[in-house]
Amino acid sequence: MVVCESCGGNCDHGELVQGVCPECLEEERKRKENAALLEKLEGSSFWQMELEV
Ligand SMILES: [Zn+2]
Repeated sequence: MVVCESCGGNCDHGELVQGVCPECLEEERKRKENAALLEKLEGSSFWQMELEV
């Protein structure tokens, strides 16, 4: 068993990419997408609330 550096979850060996599980990679990808959107929508309280979740 190996442990994801991001969420600490147990993962199968070979499943991790640079120490991070696929679920966390997807989360990171979404987070970056949201950050890019936030830049476009800067000043919008709606997106700021989204990020605090
Ligand atoms: Zn993870």
